Amino acid sequence: MNKPDELVFLPLGGCGEIGMNMGLYGYGGSWLMVDCGVTFGDDLTPGVDVMVPDPAFVVENAKDLVGVVVTHAHEDHLGGIPYLWRQLNCPVFATPFAAGLLSRKLPETGLNGTVPINEVSPGGNFSVGPFEVSFINLAHSVPETQALAIKTPAGTVLHVTDWKLDADPLVGTVTDEKSLRKFGNDGVVALMCDSTNVFVEGRTGSEGPLRTSLNDVVKNCKNRVAIACFASNVARMESAMHVAEATGRRVALVGRSLWRIAEIAKECGYLKGCPEFVDARDVGYLPRDEVFMLVTGSQGEVRAALARIAADDHPDISLSEGDSVIFSSREIPGNERAIGRLKNQLARLNVDVITERDAFVHVSGHPARDELQELYGWVNSPMLVPIHGEARHLIEHCKFAKKNGIAKTAMAENGEMLRLAPGEPEILAQVQSGRYAVDGRRLVPVDGDVVRARRRMTFSGVAVATVVLDEDGELIKTPQLSAPGIVDGIGEDVVMHEEAISAIVDAVGSMSRHQRFNDGKLEGAVSQAARRVFRAETGKRPIVQVHIVRI
Ligand SMILES: [Zn+2]
Ligand SMILES: [Zn+2]
Repeated sequence: MNKPDELVFLPLGGCGEIGMNMGLYGYGGSWLMVDCGVTFGDDLTPGVDVMVPDPAFVVENAKDLVGVVVTHAHEDHLGGIPYLWRQLNCPVFATPFAAGLLSRKLPETGLNGTVPINEVSPGGNFSVGPFEVSFINLAHSVPETQALAIKTPAGTVLHVTDWKLDADPLVGTVTDEKSLRKFGNDGVVALMCDSTNVFVEGRTGSEGPLRTSLNDVVKNCKNRVAIACFASNVARMESAMHVAEATGRRVALVGRSLWRIAEIAKECGYLKGCPEFVDARDVGYLPRDEVFMLVTGSQGEVRAALARIAADDHPDISLSEGDSVIFSSREIPGNERAIGRLKNQLARLNVDVITERDAFVHVSGHPARDELQELYGWVNSPMLVPIHGEARHLIEHCKFAKKNGIAKTAMAENGEMLRLAPGEPEILAQVQSGRYAVDGRRLVPVDGDVVRARRRMTFSGVAVATVVLDEDGELIKTPQLSAPGIVDGIGEDVVMHEEAISAIVDAVGSMSRHQRFNDGKLEGAVSQAARRVFRAETGKRPIVQVHIVRI
């Protein structure tokens, strides 16, 4: 493991994947956590919406964990705190905007008022354990995003989380070139940097010109207009207000998370001078050509406002021919099918769908290659460590940095402890890492029995057989067999069901009296008999559970 005078970086999430960021910096026997995010479930994790990093290493070292610093208010950076704080049990540091969002999320997991949240102003600083932390303003798609300069006796590391260069970010500040140059001049041991858009040439684009373009797009729309974007994008929300004003429309917020963000933004001094938002329930009272709605669900999330509107299942909002939906967002990889489904539903309603491909309606929040190059020039770091990327992003980022004048690169994926200083970078250890699923009110390992069984059940179905035997080990009733997800209850399935039951009767009948008193053997035989029938008839191997009742 690491020696006390070594400065190490240990990612437990976000390196080797995009999502659920969790990075640990270690020095002098203490650990500082940077971000604690979530990632979202998919087809492989049925019933699981949200996942967090496996916190085993932090839990083992909980007494040495001095704090969690939140870089910004995105779910992949702070969404894990409500689920994991009980294990972490340490102070949280965040800007007022991120703190505002976090304190509204904590009651959802019963952590109302128990988490010590220290608000730090954007650009401010604080000390915790052996770490002196300075916040540095970054432009990104949510206000108050902060890079961290983390100073220790072994050197300073610059943790540049999600960022971009935007001369006109509309809400919040530009990326603080002066401070980044200053920390660079003072000397850093490593630049840790966002890799999300490392494959994108040129520059990412600015919120300012986007507002103008949205205005042009909406000007040409006839009836109701809905714009789908991430709720936390306050600049986009402000743009919506301006565009609405310029096109004679009123802005309605449709989706709880939008109202929550608007409230926090106002508390923190953003969205000043904006007129009141319209409640979804009042949209029906406005003429159709005066409606401009911000809606949640740009990624096709089934319970979000846009999916319900597209399915004509929203209590307050309906769209029809002549209305328009603007996707002011990127398709996050993995969500293509859900978004495609949404677009088909909207097309059936004869609603015009406008995406990035049709018009300039979205800009990314992450730096493209020219911006990365510019940052390298400001910081002049001897070493780059890529973060916030899948393996291919991290590897490409190392290559790109080397080509652009950074002498050394080092890479750590989740669970790998990387020494940053002193001396050459080196992977010192591999610790436990992985994912936990938020399954209702508990956390379960994603590769553990519960999620694995759930996956198999959704794929192949599950059957439960009950056999009742008397004191001689004879069946005294016809076995019961319920098989949801396998047997339909009508047509040929009824025959299959009966066959499976006869197979169970035969299997028990062919066992010796002695074997029938052995629960394990009996269970095995019953389950195998039913499985054989299901497999022969359907080609699938369902889980078959057996209950034995002895009278
Ligand atoms: Zn992120
Ligand atoms: Zn972000």
